[in-house]
Amino acid sequence: MNNKILIIEDDKAIVRLMEIALKTNGYESVVANSGIEGISLFLNSSPNLVLLDMGLPDIDGSDVLEQIRAMSNTPVIIVSARDREQEKVNALDNGANDYITKPFNVGELLARIRVAFRLVKPVVKEDYFSLDYLNVDFIRRRVTIDGEEVHLTPIEYKLLKLLIDNKGKVLTHSFINKEIWGYDTEDDYQSLRVFMATLRRKIEKNTSNPRFILTEVGIGYRMNDE
Ligand code: CA
Repeated sequence: MNNKILIIEDDKAIVRLMEIALKTNGYESVVANSGIEGISLFLNSSPNLVLLDMGLPDIDGSDVLEQIRAMSNTPVIIVSARDREQEKVNALDNGANDYITKPFNVGELLARIRVAFRLVKPVVKEDYFSLDYLNVDFIRRRVTIDGEEVHLTPIEYKLLKLLIDNKGKVLTHSFINKEIWGYDTEDDYQSLRVFMATLRRKIEKNTSNPRFILTEVGIGYRMNDE
């Protein structure tokens, strides 16, 4: 289900209001009461949309927005008590999808959420991927390096396809585990590292300076898209 919403908000009453509204409308919600917790939950729970307060107790909402945008295109709706025009312009310039001012009407909030979800571009799953000397034909499940076919195990192929389907985006260890094995092994990412290492040995010419699969230290991996 792609209906998980991360609420980053320190006002408990507003959180409660949002949670009830979301639940009764079929959304799942996860809550962070600070900016730092919000970023960490964003990484660990892979939400499909974020409701972000600007005035948080630790870091500013705009910093949270910036960090989220550095990692993904997940829609972010700012829900803020600050009603200054310049704040709105800045937030939208910095990649927020929408801006709603407190106190808000629940019906309006839900309408904005529906719009944001509609505007999300579905992941384009291409039949073919080509970058430098790597070519992947997804229809024939054929991977070549400089035209030479390389044989990947089913897990290695699944990993490569997941990375390519999300090229340019940072995928967390937790997200990859869930996509590949159907569950997350919590803090143990050793088996993922092993599979990634064997995959890299097969497709990278220089594994210590990878061209395709980049490591985001402490976070996960990203497929180069250029
Ligand atoms: Ca606040």
